[in-house]
Amino acid sequence: TVDRLSDLEKLQVLGHGNSGTVYKVRHKRTLATYALKVIHGDCDTTVRRQIFREMEILRRTDSPYVVSCNGIFEKSPGDIAILLEYMDSGTLDNVLRINGTFSESSLANVALQVLNGLNYLHTHKIVHRDIKPSNLLVNSKMEVKIADFGVSKIMCRSLDPCDSYVGTCAYMSPERFDPDTYGSNYNGYAGDIWSLGLTLVELYVGHFPFSPPGQKPDWASLMCAICFSDPPSLQESSASEEFRDFIKCCLQKDSSKRWTVMQLLSHPFVNQNR
Ligand code: ADP
Ligand code: MG
Repeated sequence: TVDRLSDLEKLQVLGHGNSGTVYKVRHKRTLATYALKVIHGDCDTTVRRQIFREMEILRRTDSPYVVSCNGIFEKSPGDIAILLEYMDSGTLDNVLRINGTFSESSLANVALQVLNGLNYLHTHKIVHRDIKPSNLLVNSKMEVKIADFGVSKIMCRSLDPCDSYVGTCAYMSPERFDPDTYGSNYNGYAGDIWSLGLTLVELYVGHFPFSPPGQKPDWASLMCAICFSDPPSLQESSASEEFRDFIKCCLQKDSSKRWTVMQLLSHPFVNQNR
């Protein structure tokens, strides 16, 4: 175990996020590598709130499908450092950029592991709310783990509508923009499934499904597309029947028709090699 921050040496920067910088670090004595997420205390209250949420959730979770936390340190007054298990292949986003689009069989593997992670979170009443390729980490054992709980929510009360615009807008489900139309019996969990569906399509076709390759849509046209056009599908692609159907089950616009984690875990797409 790591007792003090001074036991660690910084090796390189792994990534920058809204809340701080993530470094690759090495424990001087054991030579074990970790990721260290350093968050500066001088940030605004929104970012602060995110950090506390993330710390709270990392403290509660213990699953092979969720990135594990090896300690939380206060660096200097207000500055917080979170020590995380190091994922040596980076994010699914990185892997897409380096290796190109994913095969169907590797996506079945990704889907199964993310579903296991979501199953763990949802049974512990945690909604992630920011599932996307850059928040899913991979290692060289091909293990996929859910990371970045900055905007997650522990469901204790009913959903606070003021709270519904957190997360990366692009991966948000239709019911988060328009609960009256798409959200009968909306509880928040279904939003993670929508984001998983979009993520899998993106990794298969190589670009964000709601916009053509290389183009970033503005926020208004994106919201229109999510709410008013047909959901992305793999109908015109060479995807197998099982994969197409799996995506269809994830990308139901009406959240009450969308499949739950438990239902998806028994879908043929993720059970082919079992
Ligand atoms: P933010 O909330 O600032 O987006 P993230 O937790 O998503 O922070 O981390 C930002 C980036 O740092 C990630 O996109 C990834 O590239 C890298 N990163 C974060 N955690 C790890 C980890 N455990 N192992 C390897 N890289 C990581
Ligand atoms: Mg992130």
